Amino acid sequence: MLTSASVPLGDLLLGRDPQRRLQTLLTLVGWATCIVMSLAHHAAATLGLADEAHTMRLAVFSLIGATLFYLLMRSGVGPRLASDAVLSMLQGAWAVAAISWAYAVSGPARGAAVLLLVLMPLFGMFTLTPRQTRLMTACSFLSIALVMAWKASAEPDRYDPRVELMHLLFAAIVLAVSSVLATLIGRLKRRSQQERAELAAALERIQRLATQDDLTGLTNRRAAGERLRRAAREPGAPLCVAMIDLDRFKQVNDSRGHAAGDEVLRHFAQLARQTVRAEDMLARWGGEEFLLLMPATTPEQALAVLARLRERLRAAPLTVVGPDYTVSFSAGVASCGGAGEADLDAAIARADEAMYRAKREGRDRALLQPVPA
Ligand code: GH3
Ligand code: MG
Ligand code: MG
Repeated sequence: MLTSASVPLGDLLLGRDPQRRLQTLLTLVGWATCIVMSLAHHAAATLGLADEAHTMRLAVFSLIGATLFYLLMRSGVGPRLASDAVLSMLQGAWAVAAISWAYAVSGPARGAAVLLLVLMPLFGMFTLTPRQTRLMTACSFLSIALVMAWKASAEPDRYDPRVELMHLLFAAIVLAVSSVLATLIGRLKRRSQQERAELAAALERIQRLATQDDLTGLTNRRAAGERLRRAAREPGAPLCVAMIDLDRFKQVNDSRGHAAGDEVLRHFAQLARQTVRAEDMLARWGGEEFLLLMPATTPEQALAVLARLRERLRAAPLTVVGPDYTVSFSAGVASCGGAGEADLDAAIARADEAMYRAKREGRDRALLQPVPA
């Protein structure tokens, strides 16, 4: 059992979800800021600069809010209830209320509260769009401006209107600069996220191109070779291979054109893929030749799969080629009992032999090539 002592502290505090860790960390940083600010306010009250009772109430308000936001993020309840942006906006509104309140009760030390405003856009830049960041910055400015106006008119002796004006000016500068910086950093962050996503998509595409056949979307011969080598190394139940070759395919090309031939290949691939199991591998081996690897399969089961495929093809005429045209194929099946590349190569060679025998015996059939005695 995993005890709390064995869980890394980071996981314990922030959880394991990489997408949520950053936001949880931000709420934790906000929480630590509240603790430090509450202590600073307590010191201001002790020095006689701020009112003790107001300072206590503010500390309780800030810490309850900070704890609530942390718990909402850490438990995952917050992200389930609201989007990242809404949660950040709510957190921003709470922080602006706390800063404005701090300004109103800090007396001569209130200038320090203006400094805190710089944090508003910086916290928001991780989750908010530039527009949302600007909105939050404007609301912060409006809130502190209202408190300054209220205090200057209600207590002009303690809150000298001239000093308030200077504070307002500094609040505007601090907010404007931090908002611009946050927007720039946010833009850089989004660009790097976008580039990372494009890179991941390009990598996936390259991997797909390297392992898939363009025309049919099946495994290409190179990737099939790797899969066969892996299958050969795995000890386990015997497997079967089938070599499949479409019958009289050249006639389609000659009579209806290459595009119709391509359509036949795609049609066959689609039906064959729907017929085989997920653990089987169907690869385009050459022009109109396909290799089917069937792990843990007896020769009888392999022949049954091919019979099913034949039925499906018969039931699905391809009108691009002709009103009654259906695809038929000749196949050779061989089982591989050993667990080595040589055994598997020999099985593929036997399947090939059986496939040519099927052609000679009249096509449209699957034959089994037994292991030589
Ligand atoms: P059989 O029944 O004996 O197998 O006769 P077949 O006509 O199917 O066999 P053959 O080997 O004579 O012809 C295969 C043809 O497949 C020749 C080649 O031009 C064509 N081919 C190979 N790759 C492609 C492809 O990607 N698209 C198209 N349309 N034709 C292809
Ligand atoms: Mg062929
Ligand atoms: Mg053929």
